[in-house]
Amino acid sequence: MASKKMTELKVGITGCAGRMGRALMRQVAEHEKCALVGGSEREDSDAIGLDLGELAGFGTLGLTVTKDPRHVFEVADVVLDFTSPAAMAHHAELAAAEGAGLVAGTTGLEPDQEAMIVAAASKTAIVRAANMSVGINLLLALTQRVAATLGSDFDIEILEMHHRHKVDAPSGTALALGRAGAAGRGVSHDDVADRGRDGITGERRPGDIGYAVLRGGNVAGEHSVIFAADNERIELSHKATDRTIFARGALTAALWLQGKPPGLYSMADVLGLGD
Ligand code: NAD
Repeated sequence: MASKKMTELKVGITGCAGRMGRALMRQVAEHEKCALVGGSEREDSDAIGLDLGELAGFGTLGLTVTKDPRHVFEVADVVLDFTSPAAMAHHAELAAAEGAGLVAGTTGLEPDQEAMIVAAASKTAIVRAANMSVGINLLLALTQRVAATLGSDFDIEILEMHHRHKVDAPSGTALALGRAGAAGRGVSHDDVADRGRDGITGERRPGDIGYAVLRGGNVAGEHSVIFAADNERIELSHKATDRTIFARGALTAALWLQGKPPGLYSMADVLGLGD
């Protein structure tokens, strides 16, 4: 009994009342090598003070949702963050200050917020991924390889669809796919990204990577990378039907982080998909 406790990974969850937060709490509770030790929410959340287990729907746990994220970073070995860009940047500073690992899943960060994650990763171990699913990370690797193989006569277009509540566009995953395509071609993504077309746009610029965004219903996440040449097209697609795939991946990342030195890691590192 005591030895099980010793080996259990203590997991905290910021944004625990969110869609991902609840899925993560259930995933952690079901995992024999993990223990849920804390959860935080924004100060004005209705969830403050609620029991974490009841919030996630698996019964009373005896721990309540706090508005003090520092407490979560103090008691956890690793914290899973799926909140908002500003919140995650602040949480990365807390992770660095408290020496906790961080699985950084929030998307839509501004450059200064990205810089805060990079700075925190010089002091603690952080896994950062716009998409934690195994399938998407394989798609990223495939996209880079196909882009490197095909010539510039193949135009790269990225199409994504998400549920109606998503606030950022294109999705972090779509942008990661675009960056993988750009890396395969050996060009800077920012130089070639065409993030939205409307009105008289002029012809497609050779070498651009174009984005198209759909929103609706409860779609968990769909991404296609389309390589279009004259008279032929290659399409690589991934469809997520349930957000538990992201929660499972986040937990795999949390377990992998144990004992890792400070650094900014990717899901490719976690899954051994690097070159
Ligand atoms: P959501 O709005 O349902 O949940 C976010 C939660 O964070 C909310 O409960 C909100 O109150 C809370 N929050 C906001 N600020 C906070 C703060 N300062 N402290 C504590 N909690 C705070 O959104 P969601 O669908 O769960 O997605 C959250 C983020 O995760 C988004 O950026 C989304 O794009 C991203 N996401 C990433 C992956 C991945 O695999 N990396 C998968 C799904 C979603």
